[in-house]
Parts: sequence; structure tokens; C-alpha cells
Amino acid sequence: MSARIIDGKAFAASLRERVAAIVPAFEAAAGRKPGLTVVIVGEDPASQVYVRSKGKATEAAGMVSTTHRLPETTTQDALIALVRDLNADPAVDGILVQLPLPKHIDEQAVIATIDPDKDVDGFHVVNAGRLAVGQEGFVPCTPLGCIMLLEDRLGDLSGLNAVVVGRSNIVGKPMAQLLLAKSCTVTIAHSRTKDLQDVCGRADILVAAVGRPAMIKGDWIKPGATVIDVGINRIDNGEGGTKLAGDVDFAEAIEVAGAITPVPGGVGPMTIAVLLRNTLVSAYRRAGVPYEK
Ligand code: NDP
Repeated sequence: MSARIIDGKAFAASLRERVAAIVPAFEAAAGRKPGLTVVIVGEDPASQVYVRSKGKATEAAGMVSTTHRLPETTTQDALIALVRDLNADPAVDGILVQLPLPKHIDEQAVIATIDPDKDVDGFHVVNAGRLAVGQEGFVPCTPLGCIMLLEDRLGDLSGLNAVVVGRSNIVGKPMAQLLLAKSCTVTIAHSRTKDLQDVCGRADILVAAVGRPAMIKGDWIKPGATVIDVGINRIDNGEGGTKLAGDVDFAEAIEVAGAITPVPGGVGPMTIAVLLRNTLVSAYRRAGVPYEK
């Protein structure tokens, strides 16, 4: 058997097109475009690349993209003052502070300053709480993208055994909450989990969000399971360069799983597409006009 490949790149492209198609209707109703503001502190090259692609995607969707590039030496107080200004700016629907921040800045203190109703990354503790109790808020983009791919592939998820490997605040925990909200029976595994192979082997849905290349082997996977590989790891390509690899041993898993996301081209492209979707949702909520799906 060979698994069906879940084409996250194509799904993300179609989500971005759907968002772009709705933006003119928002503009007609609200008299302005949705706006996403990204704040980046310092020169981390990977963060610079992410921020540039977020800006381009925002503009391509017909929204207003603003980027604040602050020097590495920016103080926590100055960053918090900027976030407060953005909270008060009616043209800003979404605020995203690119992580990681320089070591002298307390990330949680900065995230806590963002207005939860503009927190399109869904990292604010209020949005984590809203997700936990089932209230409307913002859900972190990567796990929300995973749920979209799962529902597209499987339809109703209720009653399925889901195993999430990884318990970070930005991927593992919100992923588990989302699966629970879809009535899956959820297990969260992590570095202290005993018999991880056995735990994974019971999963109808296996989500890997660890950051260890090819850690999950083919014989860990229940035949026919749907595998979502969130991991993005840069590894040696054997020719003196590097390439991206997931947390799942793709060559082995594809022989066992029912469906699997590749790396690259699976979960990765979903993150920015969901960010645009969250920004549009924020704009509708803040303008008080009903959101057209
Ligand atoms: P973190 O490092 O914050 O969390 C990793 C998790 O994996 C932890 O909960 C850790 O457990 C667990 N873990 C580590 N080693 C093992 C092990 N040997 N067995 C079982 N569990 C283990 O990572 P993130 O959640 O931020 O990211 C995970 C991966 O997803 C990374 O590769 C990252 O690059 C990728 N990613 C991709 C995104 C995208 O596609 N757009 C977005 C965000 C992340 P413990 O808590 O016990 O330490």
C-alpha cells in the first residue's frame, strides 16, 4: 500500500485565493482594507525570511501589510510601547510579533500586551483559554492549518484516536485542544512518554511536532492512519548542502499510512494561509460586519 499525499501547498494556495476573493467584500462593507502589522526585532535570518513572505502574502491577498523592523538593541519597554500603539490603531486588525525575540526581552510579557482581539497568532493566554473552553478567539495558525487538512481528508473526526507528539504552546497543546474539540480521543506524547512507539501505533491520526528528523518510523504507524508531519528540520542532503525533512521517516511511513503530509509542501504552507484567514476574520469581527465564509 502507498499512502495518499496530502497536498498542503495546493490547499494553502486555494485558502489564500478564497481569502483574497472575500477581501473586496470586506472593503465594500467596512470602507477600508484589512490590515496586518508584523513587528520584528533584530536580524535573525530565518525570521527575516518569514516576515518578508508574510508581508508579500498579505499584500497578494489585497490587505494592508505593515512591517516594523526594530534593531536588536530595542528595549522591552520600547517594544511594549509600540504594541500598545498598534492596539489603539483602528486600521490594524492583526498584530504579529515575530519570535524568537532577543534574549533581553521577555516574550511572554510582550505577547501579554497584544490586544487578544488582534492576536492573529493566537499566542495570548486569553486566546489559549478561549480555545480550552470553546469560546470564539484566535487559534495558532499551524495547528489550525493541520485541522483544516485533516477535515478535508477525513471529514468528521469524531471518535478517532489522535496522538499528538509534542506539547509546545504554539503547536502541540493547541493541536490537542482542536482535536478534542472535534471529539477525537486525544493523547499528548512528549519527551517523557514511555513506549512512544506503542502510543503512536494506536493513532488513527498521528501529528508529529517534535523537531527531530525522521524520528517516527514506518513500524510506529497504524496501517491506514493519517499522518500530519509538522516538523521542519534542516538536514545534510549528502551532497554538501542541506534539505528540509520532517519528524516522520517519509519513505517508510508512505508504505504504511493511509495519507501523509510531505515536508516540504505539507503543513508548512498552511501557516501563512491561516494567518491571512485569521486577519480577515479579525477585520470582520472588529468592523462588526458578518463574516462571509
Ligand atoms: P518545541 O521544541 O517547542 O517542542 C518540541 C516538543 O517535542 C516538546 O514538547 C518535546 O517534549 C517533544 N519532544 C522532544 N524530543 C522528543 C522525543 N524524543 N520524544 C517525544 N517527544 C519529544 O517545538 P515546536 O512545537 O515549536 O515545533 C516542533 C516542530 O514543528 C519543529 O520542527 C518546528 O520547526 C516545526 N514547526 C513548524 C511550523 C510550520 O510548519 N509552519 C510552525 C511551528 C513549528 P518536552 O515538552 O517533554 O520537552
